Amino acid sequence: MRQKNFGALLLVLFLVAALALTGCQQAGEPAGEADEVAGEAREADVVVIGGGGAGLAAAVSAAENGAEVILLEKMTMLGGNTIRSGGYYNAVDPERQEPLGIEDSIDHHYQQTIEGGDNEGDPALVRILVENALDALHWLEDYGMEFTDKVVAIQGAMWERSHVPAESGGYGYIQTLEKAARDLGVEILLETKAEKLLTDEEGRVVGVKATGADGEELEFRARNGVVLASGGFGANVEMRVKYDPRLTESFPTTNHPGATGDGILMAQELEAGVTGMEHIQLLPLADPKSGSSQHKVVTEIQSTIMVNREGKRFVNEDNRRDVLSAAIMEQTDGICFVINDAREAPEYNNYGEKVEDLVEQGYVYKADTLEELAEIAGIDAEALVQTVKEFNEAVAKQSDSFGRKVWGNTIEVGPFYATPRCPSIHHTMGGLTINTETQVLKTDGTVIPGLYAAGEVTGGIHGTNRLGGNALADIIVFGRIAGRNAAQGL
Ligand code: ADP
Repeated sequence: MRQKNFGALLLVLFLVAALALTGCQQAGEPAGEADEVAGEAREADVVVIGGGGAGLAAAVSAAENGAEVILLEKMTMLGGNTIRSGGYYNAVDPERQEPLGIEDSIDHHYQQTIEGGDNEGDPALVRILVENALDALHWLEDYGMEFTDKVVAIQGAMWERSHVPAESGGYGYIQTLEKAARDLGVEILLETKAEKLLTDEEGRVVGVKATGADGEELEFRARNGVVLASGGFGANVEMRVKYDPRLTESFPTTNHPGATGDGILMAQELEAGVTGMEHIQLLPLADPKSGSSQHKVVTEIQSTIMVNREGKRFVNEDNRRDVLSAAIMEQTDGICFVINDAREAPEYNNYGEKVEDLVEQGYVYKADTLEELAEIAGIDAEALVQTVKEFNEAVAKQSDSFGRKVWGNTIEVGPFYATPRCPSIHHTMGGLTINTETQVLKTDGTVIPGLYAAGEVTGGIHGTNRLGGNALADIIVFGRIAGRNAAQGL
């Protein structure tokens, strides 16, 4: 598997971003609709708001369908939460799963997604997600994205259908889609923040008012449609506390600082409805010092256990993310330790971080024996040895008292690793209400013409709890649909 240094990649992206800033504004004729904006307007068939995975997928899809596209990104670089993600992508994929002996089906993915969200996901949207996930993955491959042949179960995925990109984390998605977008002539404007959706006299969305890098007022007119792909609101303290009062400023988050819910707020000004806003996902296994999803040895759960300071397992590791997070928060110091043996320790983790560096930096404990590991990590040694012994017996039987279903190797080949982890705000599952064509709906259920949404800005797909690995499938599947429909001005 090719690995990259994540920091270096971000630097490259920053430089690309800086280059993209040239030519940010050009003059055009304002279409003269109901909203009045000072300054001159630009015009395109489709305007996309947000340059994460959903926005880039929508832009590429719109351009494939013949549209002239402008994409607005408020930050200095593309990527949003997508580029920070672990990169795992859920799809039922017999070509990869069968050789690995993994039994799966579209219905199984559907059922787990629906039940994993307590039946609050919209069945029609979930169907679209699971039925189109593989095709969307092939679409990425057609644009040059590489996936390994591995199919794993990551935390909260509940099954071995998570695909592993060849590049670290979410980088491959952004790199692939940015290149495709530029090749198709999409104009990407960085440091350009959408502020307000513009409508005509009939209430059709016909453009966007935005602010440029120097605070200048800009206007973008959309002949066919506007796609909102501005992501979630995990980094907006006021907004998340409004919907879940536990999630105050002191709570860590894996999110990038631009995840502030702008698209939801802009659409609500047009009476857009929202779905499931109170469902905010905590990533169970984040770094206790930074809240980041990085700095760990392994994400795959097959051959790992989670123990508390007392050296005991306390939950079924292949459980839902909300169950895992709640269970961890009840343990001593609100943390747990992921334990794995040498066979599960790659040289570089899925973010391209060198595991030995993480050990040196104190993110990860490593020792030749379980007793020593317990000692340096502050875990009860006798209990840990006993827990691992019982786990290894359970691996042989593929059965334990927690009801675990996903099994891999035993934990017995030293050196051993312990990674401290705690829950961190990760994904806002609620958002704008959309129909199966990704059109944004008003609170009364009618369509807001000309407005489409995809990705974390939307609600109604993941219900109360998103399966790990379903977000990347979501943003690509629905981003494609939104782009196509916006191009056609449905
Ligand atoms: P998704 O996974 O749904 O694509 P991401 O978080 O990856 O979500 O991407 C959303 C992108 O939208 C981020 O890059 C974010 O900076 C951008 N964004 C958020 N609000 C605005 C805004 N008001 N104008 C332009 N871009 C925005």
